Amino acid sequence: MTDVKIRLFVDHPLGAGQSLALDKAQSHYLFGVMRQQVGAKIAVFNGREGEWLTEVSEASKRGGVLLCKELRGPQVNPPDLWLVFAPIKKARTDFIVEKATEMGAARIMPVQTDYTNADRIRQDRLQAHALEAAEQCGGTFVPEVTDLTKLSALLESWPATRNLMFCDESLVGQMGAQAALQAAGAGPWAVLIGPEGGFSEKERARLHAAPFAYPVSLGPRILRADTAAVAALTVWQQALGDWM
Ligand code: SAH
Repeated sequence: MTDVKIRLFVDHPLGAGQSLALDKAQSHYLFGVMRQQVGAKIAVFNGREGEWLTEVSEASKRGGVLLCKELRGPQVNPPDLWLVFAPIKKARTDFIVEKATEMGAARIMPVQTDYTNADRIRQDRLQAHALEAAEQCGGTFVPEVTDLTKLSALLESWPATRNLMFCDESLVGQMGAQAALQAAGAGPWAVLIGPEGGFSEKERARLHAAPFAYPVSLGPRILRADTAAVAALTVWQQALGDWM
């Protein structure tokens, strides 16, 4: 296979012979920063149609065109797994979105819980982080990052068929999550991670009563929310996801 160093997400249909117009930011990146020239080979994906080999046919710092040559690899979608988490400080929230993309979350959903400090997020910036993470990790899928919603509202409209891996810090030290996940079985799932302050007693009671929720422990130590998100996604992927 042609050796290609650069992978780019393009919001454009892909297919042999397609020409793809690049926007200003993509052109700046490819031709200004990465010094690519006409004839250079670039891998592209659009989140739906696999990874394609393209060749630069026009290049300037403000625009450019890629010519789509051939399919390099199939579309690979992650399992039907959502990450629901309470946003924390900016850099740590960015980290969570980046790592969740690498770990194969299909959807990333920031939620406001009783002890969440943030009352807004920059959805566009977080979505851009997910896209960059997909470019970097070799994935062909970019998870949707949804806007901030209230956890209580999300739970009210929760789809009955989707299981929720509720990472409950009050269960610290109890048996790990693997067995509980395997007993519940495969299907649509979500992982829920709380903020630095943890969950309120009201939230905990509500989640323990919800038929779709599986309260689990992430081991004998309290993890920071960003660590907990990566750890929970790892355990889930190992037990029921695409690490099997
Ligand atoms: N301040 C809280 C901890 C919050 S940790 C306390 O001291 O109790 C942030 C989030 O990470 C938690 O809400 C939970 O979702 C998850 N988490 C961290 N460690 C965990 C553990 N050992 N078991 C289950 N969930 C954990």
